[in-house]
Amino acid sequence: MNTERLVKMFQELVSIDSPSFDERKMADRLTICLKELGFAVSEDRAGEYYGGTAGNLYAYREGTLPGEPILFSAHMDTVEPARGKKAVLHEDGRITSDGTTVLGADCMAGTAAILEALTEIKEEGKDCRSLELIFFIGEERHLRGSAVFDFSDIKAKESYILDLSGSLGRAAVQAPSLVDFQITVHGKAAHAGFAPEKGVHAIAAAARAVARMELGRVGEDMTVNIGHVEGGVKATNIVPDTCFLMGEVRSYSHERAEAQMKKIEAIFREEAEKAGGSCEVRYTVPLHAYQVPESHPSVSRFRRACARLGLPGTLEPTFGGSDQSNLALHGISGLVLASAMEQVHSCSEYTTVSELETVTELVKLLMMDAE
Ligand SMILES: [Zn+2]
Repeated sequence: MNTERLVKMFQELVSIDSPSFDERKMADRLTICLKELGFAVSEDRAGEYYGGTAGNLYAYREGTLPGEPILFSAHMDTVEPARGKKAVLHEDGRITSDGTTVLGADCMAGTAAILEALTEIKEEGKDCRSLELIFFIGEERHLRGSAVFDFSDIKAKESYILDLSGSLGRAAVQAPSLVDFQITVHGKAAHAGFAPEKGVHAIAAAARAVARMELGRVGEDMTVNIGHVEGGVKATNIVPDTCFLMGEVRSYSHERAEAQMKKIEAIFREEAEKAGGSCEVRYTVPLHAYQVPESHPSVSRFRRACARLGLPGTLEPTFGGSDQSNLALHGISGLVLASAMEQVHSCSEYTTVSELETVTELVKLLMMDAE
């Protein structure tokens, strides 16, 4: 293992500013690396679609091993504070930011591991699977890059996403549906002192609806939240005519998530109408639930590789989304792999040299697995 080269690549990737929808420099750097490794690289128009600076990168390379191509993926964007990042290597092997930004191990640790694994396979002249790689934009903004990616030409039926935080040798095999909703309750304004009875109190109607909602953990596998409320104008003497609320429903069952959303909608409509008002309910479904069966080839391939590295090979559900949620929607099943990133989405995010090495070994074994 060329640890020095791996750490250097990680530090270089981290030093490239790549906030969501401004992934241009990262896309250019990765394109050069991938072409050097013998991949045909193309970029889609997702950047134009979102007003960003780069599209999703797709790369393909024919392998020397038989079998369908397998797909590896990471995302090019990092969360804020994302500009001016520095990867500081400490004596104990930890790599942190300088404390003023995130580190960007999410998702540059996985990206560096993919590149180093490919470089080593090439140097050592090892046999390798046919590979498809996708580096998505805008993952941190509700998976927007993968949401518009055209999967129709993808050959792989098996994928590995390097985008799970925490200890190594774990893989997520199940993820929830997520319904994001926005509700506006319309009432009627009136003077709160002279003629309150002429008004329809939008905040009170919304409050009655929220009080009737099941919030928090709802049953075994669902959560419901109202995350934001605003209403009325900044005055004490006006009956508020609007109240706006944002929230979400998550469940491992897509049907149950949708049914819960319908229930919430019905409660708000009822309470708004009872008060003499009305309401608008809008929602999107950024995540669609999936579960990878134990019998899927990605599971056995992952377990074989983990066994060789002395890693636990744990399969677990996650209650968050990743680009795998969009891949699964297009018939590509696979795992989200723990990929040397800790305390992500914070300025105390870190990775370690040994974790970077282990993930690289894992990726390498998966790419060279002939079964
Ligand atoms: Zn990530």
